[in-house]
Amino acid sequence: MFLIFADVERLRAIARARPLQLVFAGKAHPRDEGGKEIIRRVVAAARSLGDALPVVYLEEHGVTLAKLLCSGVDVWLNTPRKPLEASGTSGMKAALNGVPSLSVLDGWWAEGHIEGVTGWSIGDASAASDDAAEATDLYAKLERFVAPLYYDRPFAFAEVMRSAVALNGSFFNAQRMLEQYVQNAYRPTGRTR
Ligand SMILES: *Cc1c(COP(=O)(O)O)cnc(C)c1O
Repeated sequence: MFLIFADVERLRAIARARPLQLVFAGKAHPRDEGGKEIIRRVVAAARSLGDALPVVYLEEHGVTLAKLLCSGVDVWLNTPRKPLEASGTSGMKAALNGVPSLSVLDGWWAEGHIEGVTGWSIGDASAASDDAAEATDLYAKLERFVAPLYYDRPFAFAEVMRSAVALNGSFFNAQRMLEQYVQNAYRPTGRTR
C-alpha cells in the first residue's frame, strides 16, 4: 500500500492545516491482480478521505499524461521500499521541469537529494526499509517543511524549484548517462575514440 495512506487520520489533520491534493497515475496489466488491487486501494482511500483531501487517479498513463504530470505538479512523491527502486526516472523528469522530490532515499534520489535544497528525503539514508518510521517522517516533512514552504514562503519554494533544475536536472539526464556508458563501459580500453 502507498506510504502516504499509512495513517489516514494523520493525513487528514495535515490537510486541515494547509490544503493538499494527491494525484496518482499508473496502469496495471489486465492479468496483474496485485497491481489492480493497489489501484482499488487508492480509490478506497480517496473515498474515505472525501472532501478533506482530494485524491484523483488518472487513467491511461502514457507519455502524454506523464509529460503533463512531471511538469505540472508541485512536488513529486515517490515512496519505494528500499532497495527495490531500480532508478526512479520520473523524479528526474520532474526535476528537469523544476519539480522537487519528496522521496524515500532509494534509486537516483539517494545520490541526487540535498535536503531542503533540491527537495526532501523520507526516512534515514543508512537504515533498512521501515514503513512505520518512513510514514512518520513523511507526515512530519509534509507538515513542517513542504506545506509551510509552499504556502507561507513561495519565493523560498521557487528557490527549491530552481535548485532542482540546476543541481539535479543538469546531472541526472540522458546526455551524462550516455557519456558515462561510452567512457566507462563501451569504449575499448586504451583507445580514446
Ligand atoms: C518516466 C515514465 C515511466 C517510468 O517512471 P519511473 O519513475 O522510472 O517508474 C513510466 N511510464 C511513463 C509513461 C513515463 O513517462
